[in-house]
Amino acid sequence: MKEFNYIIFGGGCAGLSLAYELNNSGKLKDKTLAIIETRKEYKRDKTWSFWKIRDHNFEDCVIKSWDNFIVSTKGKSCKISNDQFKYQTINSDLFYKKIINQISKNKNIQFLQNINEVNTENSVIFNSVNDHQYDPSNFWQHFKGIEIETNGDVFDEKVLTLMDFDCEQRNNLHFFYILPFKKNKALIETTWISTLDDPSLKDYDQQLRDYIKNKLNIMSYKINFVEEGAIPLSRFQEDPNDNTINIGSLGNMTRLSTGYTFLNIQEHSKFIANNLGNVKSLKTFAIPKKYDFLDKIFLKVLKNYPEKMPNIFFNFFSKTSKSSIRFLSNKSNIFDDLLIILKMPKWIFIKSLFR
Ligand SMILES: Cc1cc2nc3c(=O)[nH]c(=O)nc-3n(C[C@H](O)[C@H](O)[C@H](O)COP(=O)(O)OP(=O)(O)OC[C@H]3O[C@@H](n4cnc5c(N)ncnc54)[C@H](O)[C@@H]3O)c2cc1C
Repeated sequence: MKEFNYIIFGGGCAGLSLAYELNNSGKLKDKTLAIIETRKEYKRDKTWSFWKIRDHNFEDCVIKSWDNFIVSTKGKSCKISNDQFKYQTINSDLFYKKIINQISKNKNIQFLQNINEVNTENSVIFNSVNDHQYDPSNFWQHFKGIEIETNGDVFDEKVLTLMDFDCEQRNNLHFFYILPFKKNKALIETTWISTLDDPSLKDYDQQLRDYIKNKLNIMSYKINFVEEGAIPLSRFQEDPNDNTINIGSLGNMTRLSTGYTFLNIQEHSKFIANNLGNVKSLKTFAIPKKYDFLDKIFLKVLKNYPEKMPNIFFNFFSKTSKSSIRFLSNKSNIFDDLLIILKMPKWIFIKSLFR
């Protein structure tokens, strides 16, 4: 069996980001790394978007940036400027190609398909493979998106729709998300936050067809790309006796209120590369506790008052704009936090806190 200094289990977003960071920072000049990944080929499977609140390694994989976004609910809509922190979208195909192209030049890095091929005894192991059982009490952000192309120009390519709640809610939280890449090309997603126990919410194709036809008034289009997924909005408990360092979604890099994960994965990868000499410290990186605390209250409000959530989100963005972006990107200061708390309906948040 082969031995390696480092093993990354799962070569997806987190595994590859970490491999890139380790390689880039020179940590693999005289150390070996195995990436255990089951997929046989890398292709476009995800569209990662986020507010660019800090620099990252993948500026050349950004396919579009926006300075403005819209949030709408029944009867009202607001346009918010985010020119200070652009909203960026990364195509996963470009991301995979960039990393694989770079790390394949280093002979100390090997891709393998099966963990049984390696002796893990003396290695530092990073794990992003989530084999946890589905817990029906937890919330998930689940969605399906299609990138469509139309014959004529129909989209305002300068403004993305972050959340359009003017749609059926079915006693859960539902919105549409539109990333207009060009005047005739956009990714349109139907997104739910639910506990995944109601399979009827998954008639995604029908939801997309209805929205495109009845709301966007687009009658004919071709579909270039489809993405579907479910992001767990819950925390995974780590075994304190296990030395494995969890990364990615499994490493709790997801914001519980929104599913944003990509930039947290990048920050975690940098932290690991900078602190590799002190393996014990590698488990200490986490999204700051205040965000988990506030996000959990938010999910409780969602559980108890789903019908109030479209308005809560609308007010969150329309009344606190720049603070809300910093808050969702883990960069809010005390004034941002206070402003957000002041603008929320206090009574239902307090009741949910104690429920
Ligand atoms: C469709 C989709 C869109 C998303 N969009 C955004 C977004 O816009 N913004 C954002 O911030 N976050 C987004 N996320 C959330 C998050 O950024 C992604 O889920 C991200 O890919 C998480 O990275 P990861 O490495 O934890 O998981 P993954 O990227 O899923 O990587 C896990 C890897 O493990 C491999 N694997 C699985 N089983 C095994 C096994 N037994 N042995 C070896 N390898 C195995 C898989 O093939 C995969 O490559 C999105 C998620 C999804 C699903």
